[in-house]
Amino acid sequence: FDKRTGWIWYDGAFVPWQDAQVHVLTHGLHYGSCVFEGERAYGGEIFKLEDHTARLKESARLLDFEIPYDEAEINAACRELLARQNLSDAYLRPVAWRGSDMMGVSAQHNQIHLAIAAWEWPSYFDPAERLKGIRIGQAKYRRPDPLTAPSTSKAAGLYMICTISKHAAEREGYADALMLDWRGRVAECTGANIFFAKNGELHTPEADAFLNGITRKTVIELARRRGIAVHEREILPEELESFDECFITGTAAEVTPVSEIAGRHYQPGPVTKQLFDDYMAEVQPKKAAA
Ligand code: PMP
Repeated sequence: FDKRTGWIWYDGAFVPWQDAQVHVLTHGLHYGSCVFEGERAYGGEIFKLEDHTARLKESARLLDFEIPYDEAEINAACRELLARQNLSDAYLRPVAWRGSDMMGVSAQHNQIHLAIAAWEWPSYFDPAERLKGIRIGQAKYRRPDPLTAPSTSKAAGLYMICTISKHAAEREGYADALMLDWRGRVAECTGANIFFAKNGELHTPEADAFLNGITRKTVIELARRRGIAVHEREILPEELESFDECFITGTAAEVTPVSEIAGRHYQPGPVTKQLFDDYMAEVQPKKAAA
């Protein structure tokens, strides 16, 4: 990835892709003082950019640092970068971290950096292929108690258990892993939220110990617009067999049907297909009325 060309927005300036470096004594690297976002642009417009930027700022505050740019400046930087990179369907990755001024757990005065990268990422493959669904395994690690970690921050450190879990799942031939929370309730996947359908109604874990995804919130709104009942509630693993449909949601995953969770099988059905279509329509840039 670091061999690419183009521009990266870095602390207020556009720098050539390969010059966007950090020092090895960066606090964010040693102590996990780093937060990020994942955004997608469709047809040249970043979907729910304002929500992502607000979450980025809040993720940093939860890690006790303030990103030294306001939301309007960050939004403008994202849009300028997209234009400068000449991208239409793309992924954007803003990342903020504590710098290398002091080395130690305490680093109250370290400079806070912000960088934004963007690369082409078409909202790809053929819907028929996607509707077959992915297979997901069961993760060993659980989402931490919100009293143990700032679990609603999109903090780099919280992804350590996600990478371990995703690698383990991939070694067993699965595409992703289902993580439980510290109480043993169904929580989310390693980079996406999870939904189930039964008797035409939607069920999803209450987002009280993991990221309340922007896609998750969008899908709940789309379902309600369709008159589909949505139940945000406690879901225990014993209940997994009773659902008819399952899908995951996220900026990268969009709405991705699930065909299996560690031996329990699902058929992408009417609820999944409806929300898949509605989501793909929702992300399209809104054309100004003629
Ligand atoms: N959970 C985790 C752990 C994630 O990494 C993501 C992706 N950001 C999500 C949920 C979904 O969030 P969003 O819909 O805002 O992309």
